[in-house]
Amino acid sequence: MGLSGLQIFKYLPAAKKAENTNCKQCGCPTCMAYAMKLSKCQVDISACPFVSDELKDLFEYSSKQPQKTIDIGGVKIGGENVLYRHEKTFINKTVLAVLIDTDAKGWQKKLETVENFEIKRVNEVLKVDLIVFKGKEIPDITFNHVSLGELKSCGIKFIENNGFKTTSKELIDMRTNAIKTKEEKFSAPVCVHITGADDNKICAKSAFYICKYANMLLFDKFDEAMFSTLMTLRQNIFTDPQKPLQVESKIYEFNNPDENSLIFMTTNFALTFFAVANELENLPVPSYLIVTPADGMSVLTAWSAEKFTAKMVSKTLKNLDFASKVKNRKIIIPGLLAHMKEELEEEIEDFEIVVGTVDAYAISDFVNKTLCM
Ligand code: SF4
Repeated sequence: MGLSGLQIFKYLPAAKKAENTNCKQCGCPTCMAYAMKLSKCQVDISACPFVSDELKDLFEYSSKQPQKTIDIGGVKIGGENVLYRHEKTFINKTVLAVLIDTDAKGWQKKLETVENFEIKRVNEVLKVDLIVFKGKEIPDITFNHVSLGELKSCGIKFIENNGFKTTSKELIDMRTNAIKTKEEKFSAPVCVHITGADDNKICAKSAFYICKYANMLLFDKFDEAMFSTLMTLRQNIFTDPQKPLQVESKIYEFNNPDENSLIFMTTNFALTFFAVANELENLPVPSYLIVTPADGMSVLTAWSAEKFTAKMVSKTLKNLDFASKVKNRKIIIPGLLAHMKEELEEEIEDFEIVVGTVDAYAISDFVNKTLCM
């Protein structure tokens, strides 16, 4: 990671109370302003004529990328500069690639399956990232692709047939050394060639490699269930932890609701929303889902951070003018917020509050047993 503004400032004339303090020759009003801009690479280090050699060396070292980024076949591989995603965020998600041998029987069918595979999760369409061809024929396709020869010679480190223990140790050592030493010999992104016949073992190993620290996985075999699992895991690992996934705060409609339909409420945390939305889509009755603004926090987190309060819910309903749109006067809130029932009923005059389920998967049973019988 680069130097912070304060780390840079310590080396400048203002911090040392030296001559030239805040002289503005760098084009910034103060040494502190220059330090802050330099930390974001918004000014050249040479703009200040009083920067010491010590700071120049330190800046050069801290700005050096520990891992190279390689562009190949339409995907970016590597470029990571932290060990843990809470330190910053990971840059390029682990590339999931499938090997297709065009000398083998039935390769066209495998190609068609891989090209057409996609899953939708949390507003994202997830597909195989790259097809790697081996064999005499390289078909002319628009899908991201590369030959095995090109892949092996593009500068990545290629690991195959090493067994789980050796491979996982090598991955961890390689990334740790790259981040800590920034030495050239550790800077190559790493691809693991995944072979074997047991899908469960392949899936378990690959899940580990996605977490620590493969930049790319190349699979001999393509299995839709396994790719769905690994893509789901990868999406969670490579989500920016500083930006919670959120959906728009509004009223969502399921199965053409009318004024008497069920009304549910939750926050705009994307994972909660999609879990609830999935259940509501599959209910035998239509419904509304009111999604309140909560900076992408889940219901309990939002409540504890005062992003889900009775006043805010009341304001949301008024802003949406919801009371005038429906005759149903019952709002079902998440079971985790049962303690807010009275408070909500005091604040929201037009509606009665019904405490729903803690888990989304229980909504269907809840509706069948409590509301529709
Ligand atoms: Fe400070 Fe800028 Fe003057 Fe350098 S050039 S001493 S950073 S004000």
